[in-house]
Amino acid sequence: MLAAKKWGLAEPPLEAPAPPAVKPKITTRKGFETDGEDLPPVFTTVPTKQKVVFLTIDDGAEKDPQLLKMMNELRIPYSAFLSDYLVKDDYDYFARMQKSEASGISLQNHTLHHRYLPGLSYGEQKREICGMQDVIEKRFGKRPPLFRPPYGNYNEDTLVAAKSCGVKAVPLWAAEAFPDHMEWREWDRDLHPGDIVLTHFRGKEDWKGTMPDMIRRVMNVITSKGYAVAKLEDYV
Ligand SMILES: [Zn+2]
Repeated sequence: MLAAKKWGLAEPPLEAPAPPAVKPKITTRKGFETDGEDLPPVFTTVPTKQKVVFLTIDDGAEKDPQLLKMMNELRIPYSAFLSDYLVKDDYDYFARMQKSEASGISLQNHTLHHRYLPGLSYGEQKREICGMQDVIEKRFGKRPPLFRPPYGNYNEDTLVAAKSCGVKAVPLWAAEAFPDHMEWREWDRDLHPGDIVLTHFRGKEDWKGTMPDMIRRVMNVITSKGYAVAKLEDYV
């Protein structure tokens, strides 16, 4: 309650229910399939009836210490999808993020250089994806199970390459959060149980606010609609 007030939230975040004992079976969203079989699923919403959504933060350009503090104090879990060329000037920031004890935070794969993957050969894609698996394992001690292609663009080679270096699933997003508005994938412009919410590590130079401004805005949307933020890795 105090933390919510301190950070300017309209209401404290709702507490996530216990995750399912057995993870839901995730399949590729209709219209997002490739010809390949037995590849990591590509999805925008996790199948669940619980009123939970998942927060994912991409790229890694902005490294705002206030974000780490805010998320710790509010105990909001999130998954950070990192691109090496943006994070390599300060791996330590993300190491501190990973060590934040209060909330379930994980570091995931968003390629080495944030290229448009369908424009690359299989070998180049493999280097972009599997190279980032290696960087995250070397710097942060854990090989990511999750991978998100830059811009959400991929082809069959992408998924084959990702699978070859240990990627289990490819979460895209159902909604995108900005400091001053939301963008929605679905026609009803609303949240749904299991929706994945995308946002970015950006600062005032890139959009209309700071990282805490953006979190305040998206948390007010999530909480006012009766949703809690849960940890993606508990479901996928
Ligand atoms: Zn990105």
